Amino acid sequence: MSPEYIRVPDEMLVGGKWRQADGPTTQVLNPATGQVLQTVSQSSADDVDEAVARGAEAANDPAWRDLLPHQRARYLHAIADAIDAGAERLATLQTFNTGKTLHETRGLVASAAATFRYFAAVLETSDEAMTTSRGDYCTWVKHEAIGVVGAIAPWNSPVASDAQKIAPALAAGNAVILKPAEWTPLVSLALARLIMDAGLPAGLLSVLPGRGSVVGDAIVRHPGVGKVSFTGGTSTGRGIAHLAAEKLMPVSLELGGKSPTVVLEDADIDQAVAGVMYGIFSSSGQSCIAGSRLFVAESIYDDFLDRLVECTRALPVGDGFDSASRVGPLVHPKHRDGVAAYVDLAREEGGRIRCGGSAPDDPELADGSYYLPTIIDGLPNDARVCQEEIFGPVLVVLPFRDEDDLVAQANDSVYGLAAGVWTRDYRRALRLADRIEAGNVWINTYKVFSISTPFGGVKESGLGTEKGREGIAAYSRVKSVYLGMSAEPNPWAGVPRA
Ligand code: NAP
Repeated sequence: MSPEYIRVPDEMLVGGKWRQADGPTTQVLNPATGQVLQTVSQSSADDVDEAVARGAEAANDPAWRDLLPHQRARYLHAIADAIDAGAERLATLQTFNTGKTLHETRGLVASAAATFRYFAAVLETSDEAMTTSRGDYCTWVKHEAIGVVGAIAPWNSPVASDAQKIAPALAAGNAVILKPAEWTPLVSLALARLIMDAGLPAGLLSVLPGRGSVVGDAIVRHPGVGKVSFTGGTSTGRGIAHLAAEKLMPVSLELGGKSPTVVLEDADIDQAVAGVMYGIFSSSGQSCIAGSRLFVAESIYDDFLDRLVECTRALPVGDGFDSASRVGPLVHPKHRDGVAAYVDLAREEGGRIRCGGSAPDDPELADGSYYLPTIIDGLPNDARVCQEEIFGPVLVVLPFRDEDDLVAQANDSVYGLAAGVWTRDYRRALRLADRIEAGNVWINTYKVFSISTPFGGVKESGLGTEKGREGIAAYSRVKSVYLGMSAEPNPWAGVPRA
């Protein structure tokens, strides 16, 4: 497959116009080979100013502002159709730029189209309810557009995270400024071309590649931006929340995780082994909801771990375009080095590396950012590798004595994004689902997603939720309207009827 097939013009989208940015350039890499795919010019704070001004005009234009929800839905349907039509190119582009397997990127593109369709359907079926009257009036609540919203995305699943922000933001009637991650701007730029070709009015979408510290920061601080939806690391999210507090601006934050997966003694072992492997090693572990801390009941610990290690050693590691590959390269050599440093730290802390623990020795993979699926045990829950998000194919395994011990260890984390439970006993599973602090719990499955189910984290994993029918409300503001029903003057004023 030639990268020429997916070349994206080096132009940002500012307020409906495509033009080359004049900031420094980023070399966008193919992590499977280490080669430069192409260079992309970075936008600037001035470009943010322009995008906000054009976005505000477009959001306020009666041609967009006065559309009824079912009329806005037509644009979302058209965008979904355009994504479907361009799906293979988008998936290919994402595999080139992120290293994810083509099988996975095809799924992500399909989910992006489904996200636009879902929010179109929500618009078609939304109700505005009257609130129960407590006096001589009718009262109801309207959801109005905020105006211009900022969307800041990470590098791990660009097409899906872009859609998850752009679709509900447009559905709510806003203009959107998207800042993709510096390492992975290509998919967002290609998606924006599809969206504009689908007929979205100019100005409603801007896509500004560039550095978080420059472009992202300018979006968050801009007085014309009324909300920011951020997905990324917890420390970046915390900084954005501080700035948002200064502006009294709403933010939604989808942040990091160190999600516990639990295997109880009565679990279907084959199912649990496969589920644990998928939970941590798919996407090469670069997933916010990766099940990166595994707790196994003491009584089955050794047998379970032996089986898990044996199956993990057999996982094919290779280029995402090879249909046999299950674990592709990490997104960037710098990120691979960070993951490797965590495994070195585990060694220093006395952890046992049960498999992996290095780059593969296959000479064909030598130039890519590959790292073998790695399993570590023998460390206490307070070791750094058991507490910090590694965001790579690295699993730490710990035993637990009983349910209380398990819950104490699982909840001993600053994060609360996800959890997995493998057991045949649904009563125990549901009890654990209640007791483990997490925004999302999977029982006898892992990492399955539904656009109609809200998603968010608790503790330091985030603020607010995305997806679900309420997903549009997160990009709206509420206005309450009272309609007086009395035919008489207010008696308080003592005004007689003439
Ligand atoms: P990151 O470093 O926090 O970056 C995320 C985005 O924020 C990037 O576009 C980045 O731009 C931008 N950014 C950086 N500094 C900024 C600033 N001061 N102001 C505004 N924007 C700024 O995270 P990442 O390394 O790309 O992604 C991995 C993290 O995302 C992991 O922690 C993962 O768990 C989390 N994540 C969470 C979810 C979820 O739904 N909870 C989903 C996916 C990923 P540059 O890259 O250009 O610097």
